[in-house]
Amino acid sequence: MAEAPRTCPLCRVIIDPNLGPLQEVRFSNGPGGTRTKLWARVCQFVQDRGGCINADAGQRQAPAPSDFYGEAPAISLPSAPFPPPQG
Ligand SMILES: [Zn+2]
Repeated sequence: MAEAPRTCPLCRVIIDPNLGPLQEVRFSNGPGGTRTKLWARVCQFVQDRGGCINADAGQRQAPAPSDFYGEAPAISLPSAPFPPPQG
């Protein structure tokens, strides 16, 4: 049975379970994402106001670095995934 898409009154983000767990969060722009990503980027900052539809910790994972905004400084990375430029 399909679930109806819901819009978070705080985040203004649509969660559409029909799109699958990896794509169900429809941000205002860019590709779909996970509830974890939504939490990392938005919900954790607004949850104090109440009413967030993504407040259930059982529906998200521990956020990975890639779930946060890409502008975050790249600190404490254990190792570079590619060799340093030569010359
Ligand atoms: Zn929210």
